[in-house]
Amino acid sequence: MIILKNVADLDKILSSLRETSKTTGFVPTMGALHEGHLSLIKRAKQIADICICSIFVNPTQFNDPEDFNKYPVTTEKDIELLTKEQVDYLFLPDVDQIYPSGTPSRHYELGKIEEVLEGAHRPGHFQGVAQVLDRLLSIIQPTFIVMGQKDFQQIMVVRRLMTLINSPSKLITAETLRTSTGLAQSSRNARLTADQQLQATAIHKALQFGKAHIQDTAIATLERQMTEQLITAGFESVDYVAFCRASDLSPITQYTPGETTVILVAAFLGGVRLIDNMVI
Ligand code: AMP
Repeated sequence: MIILKNVADLDKILSSLRETSKTTGFVPTMGALHEGHLSLIKRAKQIADICICSIFVNPTQFNDPEDFNKYPVTTEKDIELLTKEQVDYLFLPDVDQIYPSGTPSRHYELGKIEEVLEGAHRPGHFQGVAQVLDRLLSIIQPTFIVMGQKDFQQIMVVRRLMTLINSPSKLITAETLRTSTGLAQSSRNARLTADQQLQATAIHKALQFGKAHIQDTAIATLERQMTEQLITAGFESVDYVAFCRASDLSPITQYTPGETTVILVAAFLGGVRLIDNMVI
């Protein structure tokens, strides 16, 4: 695996690659890699000739400075994992490479999707996501960009961004990888104790409960019951439990069979904010 820290070096390699007919699969990450990230890498390697991964903890998408400061950094271990996965190129830039003129001032018209759920609870988060992905897509210009459904709303934002910037890349989404207990793999899990990791499985259990009762219980009642389940399991607060149309994340009051629905959860455990979802 070749590690590149600056845009000029990466660009040289990618420019000559573009002259061949080889396809590229790009997996953007913020590091602290786990099996979930590696499943995206495997997918990228299946569909493209060349696999490129980036590790960059993007400061502009953190609305909470404490969350940014405590974000786990495990670069050496990440490099080992990526080498084992036979990633071709790792882009490991620092902030100056991504934002050479400081934080970009462009405002992306992301529409309603930016105002709800994660957008409402993390003001500015999706503008930051759009900024970093606009930059990464323009540097790498991959054939495919592979991202996880674990961040369901982020996928919708990125799809919108790619339309706004006329990106020719194709967005590939991959299912959420979980531990055997059902807990969604997440870099933030590293901040939980072993006991808290067990408690955190309540999110997946609540999602399964919501799915099981979606036809026989009022949605508002389910949202309340699921919130109670999380609090009983030890979560200190719940940002949201929401049943939404998967097409636009508008809330539903009643389940319509045949209409793809998504249940989304965000909650705090041990000061760590966890998110998960289930598509029905
Ligand atoms: P992050 O490093 O958290 O920004 O995540 C980088 C990419 O990995 C994003 O596309 C995430 O949606 C994806 N991802 C994170 N957790 C998982 C998981 N458990 N399963 C599959 N993909 C994931």
